[in-house]
Formats: sequence, structure tokens, C-alpha cells
Amino acid sequence: MTRYALIGLGNMGGGMAAVLAQAGHQVQAFDLSPKALERAAGSGASPSGSAVEAVRGTEVVLTMLPAGTHVRDVYQQAVLPHADPKALLIDCSTIDVDTARDLARQAHSAGFAAADAPVSGGVAAAAAGTLTFMVGCPEQDFSRVKTALSPMARTVAWAGEPGAGQAAKICNNMLLGVSMIGVCEALALAERLELDPERFFEIASASSGQCWSLTAYCPWPGPVATAPSNRAYEGGFAVSMMLKDLKLAQGAAATVGVSTPLGSQAEALYALFDRLGYGEKDFSSLLQLLRGRLDQLA
Ligand code: NAD
Repeated sequence: MTRYALIGLGNMGGGMAAVLAQAGHQVQAFDLSPKALERAAGSGASPSGSAVEAVRGTEVVLTMLPAGTHVRDVYQQAVLPHADPKALLIDCSTIDVDTARDLARQAHSAGFAAADAPVSGGVAAAAAGTLTFMVGCPEQDFSRVKTALSPMARTVAWAGEPGAGQAAKICNNMLLGVSMIGVCEALALAERLELDPERFFEIASASSGQCWSLTAYCPWPGPVATAPSNRAYEGGFAVSMMLKDLKLAQGAAATVGVSTPLGSQAEALYALFDRLGYGEKDFSSLLQLLRGRLDQLA
């Protein structure tokens, strides 16, 4: 049994708290939202009155918060001043690389072992304990980080030194955002050229256009039974989440002076789609914008 603190009990953190509690660990949980705290209590976590109270006496401090500014506040106000000096600090939120590196520096100079460990897999994987964690930490700390994350994970991968987990996450999601747009454009064009999109799916899946966005997550309803396109684009990876990650990638690219023209176009397109009111839909629903069939998303 390990004593965890978990701060941020939203869509992702709520599932993680439940998985840890079901595996027999003690989870001192905190969220600013009373509803989220109540849900976590219902799934076996011990609700705390504040982040300070949650971190006290724990061996592993997890944070699963919306953005870098929230993680910085929680680290500076609660985690760094009040956690047990022997505690392992792991931030699982998706945040900017610079903030992740800065917080790792602050944690290390206060004597803590710390890691950034953003996840891939979404809400269903958080609830099932099958997340993929991409870890940035000194190599000698990795086995300890892996042990702490394992109850919630299918895969725990070491990406490199502090910040490398966030870098892996945003580079992967920029690639995903771009490849999904390519697949949506190809399907929209196939349809207009009177090529049956399902026939095109079969051909491209066995040709050089094959990619995960097509064969595992097809935006055209039908060919891939588990894809959100078959559930009215509900419950997958939201447009607003993809936009967040594309913005982080563009911010990082600007910081290091790398040109990412397709990443930048992808950000602009998802920003437009989000502003049109489709932020909650799965990101593959962009197909309907490109087909001129937004009525399909009503
Ligand atoms: P969410 O908005 O559902 O949950 C965030 C929670 O943090 C909320 O309950 C909020 O009340 C709480 N919070 C905010 N500030 C706080 C503070 N100072 N103290 C305590 N609690 C605070 O978000 P989510 O979907 O759970 O995502 C969490 C992180 O995981 C984000 O960084 C997101 O990018 C990343 N992520 C999400 C998904 C997904 O599919 N939802 C997938 C991969 C990664």
C-alpha cells in the first residue's frame, strides 16, 4: 500500500483516484470543485480540505490539473512547502515544457525527486488504469516513477530528462492533429470524386496513406467500429483538448525557433472549429466541417 496525494479530480484525475483506491492504495484527494471531491470520495479516495492537507504525509504527490499556471500555483503554495521531503512529485497534467522544467528545477533544489509524466489514452484509459505515461526525469529516478505510476498504466515510457515527457506529448499530438486533418481531407475529396469512402478506407489502409488516424480512428463512420465517428463523435478526444496541445506545440516551436508550418495550420483550423462551437466534439469530427456537413454534428 502506498500513500498517494492526488490534486485535480476532473475527467482524468477522478478516474486515476478510483483506480488507485481500487488497487488498495491510500489516496488523499483534493479538488477546488466540491462535486469532484464528492465523486472521488464515492470511489474510495479520502477527501482533503485543501491541497496542503492532501500532500501531508504522502509518499507520492500526483497533480492532474488543466494547465501550467494551475500546476505552478499548487506546487508553490502546497506541494513544495508542505510535502514530505522524501515524497516523489509527479505532475501528470499536459503543460508547457518551460514550466515543467522550471518546476523540476525548483523541486530538485528543495530536495525532492520529481517528474513530468503527461498521459495519452483519455478518460476511458484513466478509468480503466490503462494510460500511457511519457516521463521526463533523471534516469536514475525512473524506476521509482514507474513503480508509482504502474497501477494506473498500460505503459510507462522514459522520454528523457525533466521536460522531455511534455515534449514527447506535444510532438506526438501535433503529429496526430496534422495526420487527422490529412485523413479528413482525403475522405472528403474521395466522396466528391464519387469514390466510395469505405472503399477508399480499404485501399488507403493497405497503401502508403495508411496511418493511425485512418485505420484505428477513422473519422468516417463505419469502417472502425470503436471510433468516435460511430458515436456521433462523442466521448473521444475533444477538439478543445487537441487545440490546447497544438497551442502548446506552437508555443514551444516559437521558443526554440523551429518552423512547424503544418502544426501552425492545424492549430488555426482547430481554433476555427472550436470557435464555431464544436469544442466538445471528438477531434475527428473535423471531417464534417471539410465535407460542408456540419448539420451531421447537430
Ligand atoms: P478537467 O478540467 O476535467 O479537470 C481538472 C480539475 O482540476 C478540475 O476538477 C478542477 O476543479 C481542478 N483544479 C483546477 N485548479 C485546481 C487547484 N488549484 N487545486 C485543485 N484542483 C484544481 O481536466 P481533465 O480532462 O481531467 O485534464 C487534466 C489534464 O490532463 C489536462 O492537463 C489535460 O490536458 C490532460 N489530458 C486530458 C485528457 C482528456 O482526454 N481529458 C487526455 C490526456 C491528457
